[in-house]
Amino acid sequence: MSKVILSIIGTAQDGGLPHPNCFCENCKCAIKDPNFRRTASALAIVLPQEKEWHLIDATPDLKEQMGKVQLKYHLEGKIMRNIFLTHAHMGHLPGLLLLGKEGINSKHVPVFAGTKMKNLLVNNAPWSLLTKLSNILIKELKNNEPIHVDSLFTVTPILVPHRNEFSETFAFWINGPNKRVLYIPDIDQWEEWDLDIVEACKKADICLLDGTFHSPKDLSHIKRDIGEIPHPLMTTTMEKLQHLTSQTTIYFTHLNHSNPTIDPDGQERKELLKRGFFIAEDGLEIII
Ligand SMILES: [Zn+2]
Ligand SMILES: [Zn+2]
Ligand SMILES: [Zn+2]
Repeated sequence: MSKVILSIIGTAQDGGLPHPNCFCENCKCAIKDPNFRRTASALAIVLPQEKEWHLIDATPDLKEQMGKVQLKYHLEGKIMRNIFLTHAHMGHLPGLLLLGKEGINSKHVPVFAGTKMKNLLVNNAPWSLLTKLSNILIKELKNNEPIHVDSLFTVTPILVPHRNEFSETFAFWINGPNKRVLYIPDIDQWEEWDLDIVEACKKADICLLDGTFHSPKDLSHIKRDIGEIPHPLMTTTMEKLQHLTSQTTIYFTHLNHSNPTIDPDGQERKELLKRGFFIAEDGLEIII
């Protein structure tokens, strides 16, 4: 029987862990201990029997993430069949360049992107070379229109509010034969969304949600103002969704290096687990 595996290949905010030029406790620990490192948020959807895989978001860590997926699932030399992009920020897009002539030199890999993202990729260097040389083939995502990737699963883009300087931002529903997964790595605030996160969460079996910041304390020690980088706080999200933890498995991902729940022995992590929520880990796999 064919199965569909959702492989969580990255769980950090765009800058990763360690974060460049940061020496907070989490970053120092990650510099010294490779097991403590986290790569930028991304997912692979793997069909082991069909020997195929699909990618959601092309991070700056794609080279490493891709190698791990290919080795783990015996897909050596097998390039991803499709790429789906959430938005144009630096944690979600630059890995696309690895498909170019100086890298893999791929042929016609379908890249699903929103209209603004498509324009960005087609009209601006260095991205434009990828379409000119047919390394990629851009296909347009339309809000709420499911893509029937094959008979086993669908990917449905949902627009979310996020500081959209260069592109629109999508979340994705990934519906496998057995489970419905809602993936929202980046969103400004739940209240600004035209959908209700509580209702969306009720429809999901598994949620992977924006866990960039735990509380306003996160950034105080590195002198960045939380107001200039809006994300829903984990503490707020937990209050909103607390009553759903018995029916939906809720993971946090896209963790900023300053987030105290990164520390598996920390008080904040223990409290989160006690409340019935989970932290996504690089390499975690879920059969959907
Ligand atoms: Zn991000
Ligand atoms: Zn740090
Ligand atoms: Zn972003």
